[in-house]
Amino acid sequence: MMDLHTHLDLYPNAIKLAYEVNETNSFTLCVTTSPRAWRATSDVFSRLANIEVALGLHPEIVSQKYGERTLMLQYISSARFIGEIGLDGSPQYSNSLRTLQKQIFGDVLSEVSRAGGRVMSIHSRRAVSEVLLMLRVHPNVGIPILHWFSGSISELREAINIGCYFSVNTLMATSERGAYLISLMPHDKVLPESDGPFAIQGNLPLSPMSSNQVAHLLSTIWKVDKEEVQLGFESTLRHIQSDLK
Ligand SMILES: [Zn+2]
Repeated sequence: MMDLHTHLDLYPNAIKLAYEVNETNSFTLCVTTSPRAWRATSDVFSRLANIEVALGLHPEIVSQKYGERTLMLQYISSARFIGEIGLDGSPQYSNSLRTLQKQIFGDVLSEVSRAGGRVMSIHSRRAVSEVLLMLRVHPNVGIPILHWFSGSISELREAINIGCYFSVNTLMATSERGAYLISLMPHDKVLPESDGPFAIQGNLPLSPMSSNQVAHLLSTIWKVDKEEVQLGFESTLRHIQSDLK
């Protein structure tokens, strides 16, 4: 099993859970919300070989974390994975979208490009066109994975054209619109995620060990065997990892 976008460090019982996840999943990408959190979490998870910690600066908190901008740019050369980064156009963040968010996202993409490209987990809620435009401006950033994509059909086509990957979770795959978007995604560009503990289904946060459920849902949406979906996840992950410098 695997999870390409989890906030593993933010679960209430994070350390105990991380050991369990490290045993169960062959690969887990723990995204962080600030460069300081990346440093701290990397230290704590350093002995867990199957967990990678991604360097992030979450678009929802750029106003509060603007002081960490320089640190973020400095750390990029030593980070193997980047995330969570991106843009959020929801009403409560729209003030920072045009200024701070775009400035930081643009600076991060420039620096990633200078560093030779990275695998990046990207947030694009209500700002897909802006994210895609910025990816077009920075073509050498490596592998962009759009996490929990919720844009329009034409934005999805544009993202596919640019070469984006997509990470999807059980909430997305059980919503009518999410399932429709997934049905249009190239099978070799899709990976499982949870986005837990933020993503909640029923009363429980989605588990970083839920990729079997994602595979099951995708097998129904795509009308292929679940085993085929799981093998697809593995080969897509290998492809992404082989691209790492
Ligand atoms: Zn997230």
